[in-house]
Amino acid sequence: MAGRGCAPTGPPPGSDERGFPAHQAPRCAGLAALDAAVVGCRACPRLVAWREQVGAARRAAFRDREYWAKPVPGFGPPDAALVVVGLAPAAHGANRTGRMFTGDASGDFLFAGLHAVGLASRPTATHRGDGLELYGVRVTAPVHCAPPGNRPTPAERDTCRPWLAAELGLLAPGLRAVVALGGFGWQALLPALGAAGWPLPRPRPAFGHGAELTLPAAGGRPELRVLGCYHPSQHNTFTGRLTFAMLVEVLTRARELAGLPAGPKDP
Ligand code: SF4
Repeated sequence: MAGRGCAPTGPPPGSDERGFPAHQAPRCAGLAALDAAVVGCRACPRLVAWREQVGAARRAAFRDREYWAKPVPGFGPPDAALVVVGLAPAAHGANRTGRMFTGDASGDFLFAGLHAVGLASRPTATHRGDGLELYGVRVTAPVHCAPPGNRPTPAERDTCRPWLAAELGLLAPGLRAVVALGGFGWQALLPALGAAGWPLPRPRPAFGHGAELTLPAAGGRPELRVLGCYHPSQHNTFTGRLTFAMLVEVLTRARELAGLPAGPKDP
């Protein structure tokens, strides 16, 4: 019998229930387990329907390819000192290839930038198994399923938050810096950092390209630097709002704050 004041217990939520990420994410002992659990998540009915519908219909250029059509886990080493946080998988990009930022123009721009500052082995990312390696950096998103119109709802963002909070918590011992891509990434990242145990300033600082925030050391963790960067969406890169030089400048700063050396590149 439950003691006084104990919450009633019941069966754990299934993967298609809204409480699944909050229940499951903190129970993952490492990033490999977390990534596997993320891939099995079906907690957002609208996004599950969309990612699978896109995967079944396919774009003409990819008609002969099998789409991933599942949640896309983070990509990069489990001891990353730097994390780059985007928005969500693109319908015909990461939702097709199964790897963050892989297979679309935004990813082409981002990985070229990571390569330019010595954090990626090559400037292009085409598919899982293409040999791309990231050095000390992990790329992830606050929403792991492709949303219609690239717009997750606030409820979907909040439902998915425990996955990002757990990912940041598992990386915490060696994590030194985080780059948030765009205002959505920034606004979704801060509460995830709070949920992972970092103290947040009040009021929360606004997003801006080049914005920097320092979260103080706490709970045995070193201080964490948070940087803002415009999202490398085609809207931003085509209009010149985000130039390649601007991206490289932020990534260089982030690499230095994370204490990362420039790694080897493919010839
Ligand atoms: S967006 Fe996140 S919480 Fe929602 S179904 Fe996908 S992985 Fe699960």
